[in-house]
Amino acid sequence: MDRVLILLAAGRGERAKVEKQWATVQGMPVVAHTLSLCERERMVDRILLGVSPSRLSLAQEMVERYAPDIGEVFVGGHERRDTVWNGLQRLPEGTGLVVIHDAARPFASKELWLRVIKKAKEAGAAIPAVPVRDTIKEVVNNQVVKTMKRELLWAVQTPQAFSKEIIVEGYRMAIEKDLPITDDASAVELLGHPMAVVDGDPQNEKITFAEDLERYRASSPDIRVGWGFDAHSFCPDRPLFLCGVEIPHSQGLEGHSDADVALHALCDALIGAAGMGDIGVHFPDTDERHKGRESSWFVRRVVEMLEEKGFSVLNADITIMAQTPKLSSYRQQMRERVAQLLSIPADRVNIKATTTEGMGFVGRKEGIAAAATVALIAVG
Ligand code: MG
Repeated sequence: MDRVLILLAAGRGERAKVEKQWATVQGMPVVAHTLSLCERERMVDRILLGVSPSRLSLAQEMVERYAPDIGEVFVGGHERRDTVWNGLQRLPEGTGLVVIHDAARPFASKELWLRVIKKAKEAGAAIPAVPVRDTIKEVVNNQVVKTMKRELLWAVQTPQAFSKEIIVEGYRMAIEKDLPITDDASAVELLGHPMAVVDGDPQNEKITFAEDLERYRASSPDIRVGWGFDAHSFCPDRPLFLCGVEIPHSQGLEGHSDADVALHALCDALIGAAGMGDIGVHFPDTDERHKGRESSWFVRRVVEMLEEKGFSVLNADITIMAQTPKLSSYRQQMRERVAQLLSIPADRVNIKATTTEGMGFVGRKEGIAAAATVALIAVG
Protein backbone atom coordinates (compact mmCIF):
# COMPACT_ATOMS: atom_id res chain seq x y z
CA MET A 1 0.00 0.00 0.00
CA ASP A 2 2.00 2.93 -1.27
CA ARG A 3 -0.28 5.95 -1.64
CA VAL A 4 -3.47 6.50 0.34
CA LEU A 5 -5.94 9.32 -0.31
CA ILE A 6 -7.98 10.86 2.47
CA LEU A 7 -10.87 12.48 0.61
CA LEU A 8 -12.73 15.03 2.67
CA ALA A 9 -16.48 15.21 2.12
CA ALA A 10 -17.83 15.60 5.65
CA GLY A 11 -18.55 19.33 5.34
CA ARG A 12 -22.06 20.50 6.09
CA GLY A 13 -22.03 23.24 3.47
CA GLU A 14 -22.50 26.13 5.84
CA ARG A 15 -21.13 28.67 3.39
CA ALA A 16 -22.82 27.22 0.31
CA LYS A 17 -26.10 26.45 2.15
CA VAL A 18 -25.99 23.08 0.34
CA GLU A 19 -23.70 20.10 0.76
CA LYS A 20 -21.94 20.87 -2.48
CA GLN A 21 -19.93 17.64 -2.49
CA TRP A 22 -23.15 15.71 -3.30
CA ALA A 23 -24.48 18.16 -5.89
CA THR A 24 -24.24 17.21 -9.56
CA VAL A 25 -21.74 19.01 -11.77
CA GLN A 26 -20.88 17.90 -15.33
CA GLY A 27 -23.18 14.92 -15.03
CA MET A 28 -21.72 13.48 -11.80
CA PRO A 29 -21.89 14.23 -8.10
CA VAL A 30 -18.99 16.50 -7.14
CA VAL A 31 -17.38 13.84 -4.94
CA ALA A 32 -17.56 11.28 -7.75
CA HIS A 33 -15.19 13.27 -9.98
CA THR A 34 -12.28 12.55 -7.65
CA LEU A 35 -13.31 8.96 -6.92
CA SER A 36 -13.54 8.22 -10.60
CA LEU A 37 -10.24 9.92 -11.54
CA CYS A 38 -8.34 8.08 -8.81
CA GLU A 39 -9.85 4.71 -9.69
CA ARG A 40 -9.40 5.12 -13.44
CA GLU A 41 -5.87 6.50 -13.38
CA ARG A 42 -4.69 4.47 -10.36
CA MET A 43 -3.61 7.74 -8.82
CA VAL A 44 -3.62 6.14 -5.35
CA ASP A 45 -3.87 2.59 -4.02
CA ARG A 46 -6.63 3.29 -1.53
CA ILE A 47 -9.23 6.03 -0.96
CA LEU A 48 -10.59 6.75 2.50
CA LEU A 49 -13.69 8.88 1.98
CA GLY A 50 -14.62 10.86 5.10
CA VAL A 51 -18.31 11.81 5.33
CA SER A 52 -20.84 12.93 7.91
CA PRO A 53 -22.83 10.12 9.59
CA SER A 54 -26.03 11.09 7.73
CA ARG A 55 -24.31 10.54 4.37
CA LEU A 56 -22.81 7.12 5.05
CA SER A 57 -25.11 5.10 2.82
CA LEU A 58 -25.01 7.64 -0.03
CA ALA A 59 -21.20 7.65 0.19
CA GLN A 60 -21.16 3.87 0.15
CA GLU A 61 -23.21 3.90 -3.05
CA MET A 62 -20.81 6.41 -4.64
CA VAL A 63 -17.79 4.32 -3.75
CA GLU A 64 -19.39 1.16 -5.13
CA ARG A 65 -20.22 2.96 -8.34
CA TYR A 66 -17.14 5.11 -8.95
CA ALA A 67 -14.24 3.52 -7.04
CA PRO A 68 -15.26 -0.06 -6.24
CA ASP A 69 -11.71 -1.43 -6.20
CA ILE A 70 -10.00 1.08 -3.96
CA GLY A 71 -12.67 3.05 -2.08
CA GLU A 72 -13.71 2.85 1.57
CA VAL A 73 -15.98 5.12 3.62
CA PHE A 74 -15.41 6.39 7.15
CA VAL A 75 -17.20 8.78 9.45
CA GLY A 76 -15.58 12.19 9.65
CA GLY A 77 -15.50 14.54 12.61
CA HIS A 78 -17.17 17.83 13.32
CA GLU A 79 -14.28 19.95 12.03
CA ARG A 80 -12.12 19.35 8.97
CA ARG A 81 -9.17 18.70 11.28
CA ASP A 82 -11.04 15.91 13.08
CA THR A 83 -12.03 14.25 9.82
CA VAL A 84 -8.41 14.16 8.65
CA TRP A 85 -7.36 12.79 12.03
CA ASN A 86 -10.00 10.03 11.84
CA GLY A 87 -8.69 9.18 8.39
CA LEU A 88 -5.09 9.08 9.59
CA GLN A 89 -6.14 6.50 12.21
CA ARG A 90 -7.36 4.24 9.43
CA LEU A 91 -4.27 4.23 7.21
CA PRO A 92 -3.54 0.70 6.11
CA GLU A 93 -0.34 -1.12 7.02
CA GLY A 94 2.61 0.01 4.92
CA THR A 95 1.20 3.39 3.82
CA GLY A 96 4.05 5.45 2.38
CA LEU A 97 2.46 8.64 1.12
CA VAL A 98 -0.76 10.27 2.36
CA VAL A 99 -2.62 12.47 -0.11
CA ILE A 100 -5.31 14.76 1.30
CA HIS A 101 -7.90 16.34 -0.98
CA ASP A 102 -11.08 18.37 -0.60
CA ALA A 103 -13.96 16.68 -2.42
CA ALA A 104 -15.21 20.19 -3.25
CA ARG A 105 -12.35 20.51 -5.77
CA PRO A 106 -13.63 18.14 -8.46
CA PHE A 107 -11.57 19.63 -11.30
CA ALA A 108 -8.02 18.84 -10.11
CA SER A 109 -6.38 17.45 -13.25
CA LYS A 110 -4.45 14.21 -13.54
CA GLU A 111 -1.31 16.24 -14.30
CA LEU A 112 -1.73 18.23 -11.09
CA TRP A 113 -2.14 15.05 -9.03
CA LEU A 114 1.00 13.58 -10.59
CA ARG A 115 3.02 16.77 -9.97
CA VAL A 116 2.08 16.84 -6.30
CA ILE A 117 2.69 13.12 -5.72
CA LYS A 118 6.06 13.14 -7.49
CA LYS A 119 7.30 16.15 -5.54
CA ALA A 120 6.08 14.78 -2.21
CA LYS A 121 7.96 11.54 -2.85
CA GLU A 122 11.17 13.53 -3.31
CA ALA A 123 10.66 16.17 -0.62
CA GLY A 124 8.41 14.47 1.96
CA ALA A 125 5.74 17.15 1.66
CA ALA A 126 4.32 19.03 -1.34
CA ILE A 127 1.40 21.33 -2.02
CA PRO A 128 0.07 22.99 -5.18
CA ALA A 129 -0.36 26.75 -5.18
CA VAL A 130 -1.11 29.55 -7.63
CA PRO A 131 0.04 33.18 -7.43
CA VAL A 132 -2.63 35.47 -6.02
CA ARG A 133 -4.06 37.76 -8.71
CA ASP A 134 -5.85 40.25 -6.50
CA THR A 135 -4.21 42.60 -4.08
CA ILE A 136 -4.84 41.29 -0.58
CA LYS A 137 -5.42 43.59 2.34
CA GLU A 138 -5.87 42.89 6.00
CA VAL A 139 -9.15 44.48 7.04
CA VAL A 140 -10.56 44.88 10.54
CA ASN A 141 -13.93 46.52 11.16
CA ASN A 142 -14.10 47.74 7.55
CA GLN A 143 -10.75 49.49 7.91
CA VAL A 144 -7.59 48.54 6.06
CA VAL A 145 -4.92 47.55 8.53
CA LYS A 146 -2.28 46.44 6.08
CA THR A 147 -1.64 45.83 2.38
CA MET A 148 0.17 42.57 1.76
CA LYS A 149 3.01 42.18 -0.74
CA ARG A 150 1.24 40.44 -3.56
CA GLU A 151 4.39 38.93 -5.10
CA LEU A 152 4.88 36.90 -1.93
CA LEU A 153 1.34 35.56 -1.74
CA TRP A 154 0.20 32.21 -3.13
CA ALA A 155 -3.20 30.59 -2.91
CA VAL A 156 -2.91 27.00 -1.77
CA GLN A 157 -4.95 24.17 -3.26
CA THR A 158 -5.40 20.46 -2.72
CA PRO A 159 -4.43 17.63 -3.32
CA GLN A 160 -1.56 17.93 -0.88
CA ALA A 161 0.76 14.99 -0.23
CA PHE A 162 3.00 14.07 2.67
CA SER A 163 4.97 11.09 3.85
CA LYS A 164 2.94 9.32 6.47
CA GLU A 165 5.15 9.99 9.50
CA ILE A 166 5.29 13.72 8.81
CA ILE A 167 1.55 14.29 8.41
CA VAL A 168 0.61 12.08 11.37
CA GLU A 169 3.12 13.89 13.58
CA GLY A 170 1.95 17.31 12.37
CA TYR A 171 -1.69 16.55 13.07
CA ARG A 172 -0.86 15.03 16.45
CA MET A 173 0.78 18.32 17.40
CA ALA A 174 -2.09 20.42 15.99
CA ILE A 175 -4.60 18.43 18.02
CA GLU A 176 -2.52 18.57 21.20
CA LYS A 177 -2.31 22.34 20.84
CA ASP A 178 -5.94 22.49 19.73
CA LEU A 179 -5.06 24.53 16.65
CA PRO A 180 -7.72 24.81 13.93
CA ILE A 181 -6.36 23.48 10.63
CA THR A 182 -7.94 24.52 7.33
CA ASP A 183 -4.94 23.44 5.29
CA ASP A 184 -3.00 20.26 5.97
CA ALA A 185 0.36 21.79 5.11
CA SER A 186 0.04 24.08 8.12
CA ALA A 187 0.00 21.02 10.39
CA VAL A 188 3.30 19.93 8.87
CA GLU A 189 4.70 23.45 9.10
CA LEU A 190 4.23 23.20 12.88
CA LEU A 191 7.01 20.63 12.81
CA GLY A 192 9.29 23.01 10.95
CA HIS A 193 9.44 20.53 8.06
CA PRO A 194 10.18 22.10 4.65
CA MET A 195 7.17 22.29 2.35
CA ALA A 196 7.70 22.08 -1.41
CA VAL A 197 5.36 24.04 -3.65
CA VAL A 198 4.43 22.88 -7.14
CA ASP A 199 2.41 24.75 -9.77
CA GLY A 200 -1.28 24.62 -8.96
CA ASP A 201 -3.98 24.88 -11.58
CA PRO A 202 -6.30 27.90 -11.86
CA GLN A 203 -9.04 25.47 -13.04
CA ASN A 204 -8.78 23.61 -9.74
CA GLU A 205 -11.25 25.85 -7.99
CA LYS A 206 -12.99 24.99 -4.78
CA ILE A 207 -16.77 24.99 -4.89
CA THR A 208 -17.54 27.09 -1.84
CA PHE A 209 -20.72 29.02 -2.45
CA ALA A 210 -24.07 28.16 -4.01
CA GLU A 211 -23.22 30.58 -6.86
CA ASP A 212 -20.16 28.48 -7.68
CA LEU A 213 -22.42 25.51 -8.26
CA GLU A 214 -24.72 27.58 -10.46
CA ARG A 215 -21.76 28.76 -12.52
CA TYR A 216 -20.43 25.25 -13.09
CA ARG A 217 -23.88 24.01 -14.01
CA ALA A 218 -24.33 26.84 -16.50
CA SER A 219 -20.97 26.12 -18.10
CA SER A 220 -21.73 22.41 -18.49
CA PRO A 221 -25.44 22.02 -19.14
CA ASP A 222 -27.01 18.62 -18.50
CA ILE A 223 -28.84 17.95 -21.80
CA ARG A 224 -30.97 14.84 -22.37
CA VAL A 225 -32.29 13.62 -25.70
CA GLY A 226 -35.34 11.38 -26.12
CA TRP A 227 -36.97 9.62 -29.03
CA GLY A 228 -40.49 8.30 -29.42
CA PHE A 229 -42.46 6.35 -32.02
CA ASP A 230 -46.12 5.39 -32.39
CA ALA A 231 -48.51 4.02 -35.01
CA HIS A 232 -52.31 3.81 -35.10
CA SER A 233 -54.60 2.29 -37.69
CA PHE A 234 -57.36 4.19 -39.48
CA CYS A 235 -60.94 3.62 -38.42
CA PRO A 236 -64.17 5.15 -39.74
CA ASP A 237 -66.42 7.50 -37.81
CA ARG A 238 -63.75 9.17 -35.69
CA PRO A 239 -62.24 12.64 -36.07
CA LEU A 240 -58.52 12.71 -36.99
CA PHE A 241 -56.24 14.49 -34.52
CA LEU A 242 -52.56 15.12 -35.21
CA CYS A 243 -50.41 17.29 -32.93
CA GLY A 244 -53.57 18.39 -31.14
CA VAL A 245 -55.13 19.78 -34.34
CA GLU A 246 -58.27 18.30 -35.91
CA ILE A 247 -57.54 17.49 -39.55
CA PRO A 248 -60.51 17.11 -41.90
CA HIS A 249 -60.44 13.55 -43.26
CA SER A 250 -62.82 10.71 -44.05
CA GLN A 251 -61.28 8.58 -41.27
CA GLY A 252 -59.83 9.00 -37.83
CA LEU A 253 -57.45 6.74 -35.91
CA GLU A 254 -58.27 3.77 -33.74
CA GLY A 255 -57.31 4.07 -30.08
CA HIS A 256 -58.32 4.25 -26.44
CA SER A 257 -57.75 8.04 -26.25
CA ASP A 258 -58.26 10.43 -29.18
CA ALA A 259 -55.44 8.40 -30.83
CA ASP A 260 -53.29 11.44 -31.68
CA VAL A 261 -50.34 9.40 -32.85
CA ALA A 262 -48.02 12.41 -33.13
CA LEU A 263 -48.63 13.55 -29.54
CA HIS A 264 -48.16 9.96 -28.33
CA ALA A 265 -44.74 9.83 -30.03
CA LEU A 266 -43.98 13.22 -28.48
CA CYS A 267 -44.97 11.99 -24.98
CA ASP A 268 -42.75 8.94 -25.39
CA ALA A 269 -39.81 11.11 -26.46
CA LEU A 270 -40.28 13.41 -23.44
CA ILE A 271 -40.70 10.52 -21.00
CA GLY A 272 -37.74 8.72 -22.57
CA ALA A 273 -35.43 11.74 -22.32
CA ALA A 274 -36.15 11.94 -18.59
CA GLY A 275 -35.55 8.20 -18.15
CA MET A 276 -39.11 7.65 -16.90
CA GLY A 277 -40.20 4.66 -18.99
CA ASP A 278 -42.93 5.10 -21.60
CA ILE A 279 -46.43 6.43 -22.10
CA GLY A 280 -48.03 3.06 -21.27
CA VAL A 281 -46.47 3.05 -17.81
CA HIS A 282 -47.92 6.45 -16.94
CA PHE A 283 -51.23 6.35 -18.85
CA PRO A 284 -52.24 2.69 -19.30
CA ASP A 285 -55.02 2.10 -21.83
CA THR A 286 -56.70 -0.11 -19.24
CA ASP A 287 -57.46 3.05 -17.25
CA GLU A 288 -61.04 4.06 -18.02
CA ARG A 289 -60.27 7.68 -17.12
CA HIS A 290 -58.18 7.94 -20.29
CA LYS A 291 -60.94 6.66 -22.59
CA GLY A 292 -61.52 9.20 -25.35
CA ARG A 293 -59.19 11.61 -23.60
CA GLU A 294 -57.51 14.37 -25.61
CA SER A 295 -53.85 13.51 -26.01
CA SER A 296 -52.94 17.13 -25.30
CA TRP A 297 -53.88 16.30 -21.68
CA PHE A 298 -51.15 13.61 -21.68
CA VAL A 299 -48.58 16.07 -23.02
CA ARG A 300 -49.43 18.64 -20.37
CA ARG A 301 -49.24 16.02 -17.63
CA VAL A 302 -45.87 14.78 -18.93
CA VAL A 303 -44.50 18.33 -18.97
CA GLU A 304 -45.62 18.69 -15.32
CA MET A 305 -43.84 15.44 -14.45
CA LEU A 306 -40.67 16.73 -16.14
CA GLU A 307 -40.87 19.96 -14.18
CA GLU A 308 -41.19 17.98 -10.96
CA LYS A 309 -38.00 16.12 -11.96
CA GLY A 310 -36.19 19.41 -12.69
CA PHE A 311 -36.27 19.24 -16.50
CA SER A 312 -37.28 21.88 -18.96
CA VAL A 313 -37.99 21.23 -22.66
CA LEU A 314 -35.55 22.77 -25.16
CA ASN A 315 -37.04 21.70 -28.49
CA ALA A 316 -39.09 19.06 -30.27
CA ASP A 317 -38.91 17.67 -33.80
CA ILE A 318 -41.83 15.51 -35.00
CA THR A 319 -42.14 13.50 -38.20
CA ILE A 320 -45.59 12.29 -39.21
CA MET A 321 -45.67 9.40 -41.70
CA ALA A 322 -48.95 9.42 -43.64
CA GLN A 323 -49.79 8.46 -47.21
CA THR A 324 -53.06 10.31 -46.72
CA PRO A 325 -54.32 12.96 -45.91
CA LYS A 326 -52.00 15.67 -47.18
CA LEU A 327 -50.72 17.57 -44.13
CA SER A 328 -48.55 20.42 -45.43
CA SER A 329 -51.23 23.09 -45.02
CA TYR A 330 -51.66 22.18 -41.30
CA ARG A 331 -47.99 22.27 -40.36
CA GLN A 332 -47.95 25.79 -38.96
CA GLN A 333 -51.08 25.17 -36.90
CA MET A 334 -49.63 21.93 -35.51
CA ARG A 335 -46.36 23.65 -34.71
CA GLU A 336 -48.10 26.38 -32.74
CA ARG A 337 -50.27 23.92 -30.87
CA VAL A 338 -47.31 21.75 -29.83
CA ALA A 339 -45.33 24.84 -28.79
CA GLN A 340 -48.26 25.91 -26.65
CA LEU A 341 -48.54 22.47 -25.02
CA LEU A 342 -44.82 22.44 -24.24
CA SER A 343 -44.77 26.13 -23.20
CA ILE A 344 -41.87 26.88 -25.55
CA PRO A 345 -41.58 29.30 -28.50
CA ALA A 346 -42.87 27.99 -31.84
CA ASP A 347 -39.41 28.22 -33.41
CA ARG A 348 -38.32 25.44 -31.04
CA VAL A 349 -40.86 23.07 -32.56
CA ASN A 350 -40.55 21.46 -35.97
CA ILE A 351 -43.19 19.38 -37.72
CA LYS A 352 -42.39 17.29 -40.77
CA ALA A 353 -44.76 15.15 -42.78
CA THR A 354 -43.81 12.44 -45.23
CA THR A 355 -45.41 9.65 -47.19
CA THR A 356 -43.64 6.31 -47.40
CA GLU A 357 -43.81 6.22 -51.22
CA GLY A 358 -46.63 3.70 -51.08
CA MET A 359 -44.63 1.18 -49.04
CA GLY A 360 -45.68 -0.63 -45.89
CA PHE A 361 -48.78 -0.11 -43.73
CA VAL A 362 -48.55 3.66 -44.10
CA GLY A 363 -48.21 3.34 -47.88
CA ARG A 364 -51.24 1.03 -48.01
CA LYS A 365 -53.18 3.74 -46.15
CA GLU A 366 -53.87 1.42 -43.20
CA GLY A 367 -52.84 3.99 -40.65
CA ILE A 368 -50.47 6.78 -39.61
CA ALA A 369 -47.14 6.59 -37.78
CA ALA A 370 -45.16 9.31 -36.05
CA ALA A 371 -41.68 9.75 -34.57
CA ALA A 372 -40.51 12.52 -32.26
CA THR A 373 -37.15 13.68 -30.94
CA VAL A 374 -36.85 16.10 -28.03
CA ALA A 375 -34.08 17.67 -25.97
CA LEU A 376 -34.43 18.52 -22.28
CA ILE A 377 -32.18 20.52 -20.00
CA ALA A 378 -31.84 19.79 -16.29
CA VAL A 379 -32.55 22.98 -14.40
CA GLY A 380 -33.07 21.78 -10.86
MG1 MG B 1 -50.53 5.52 -29.19
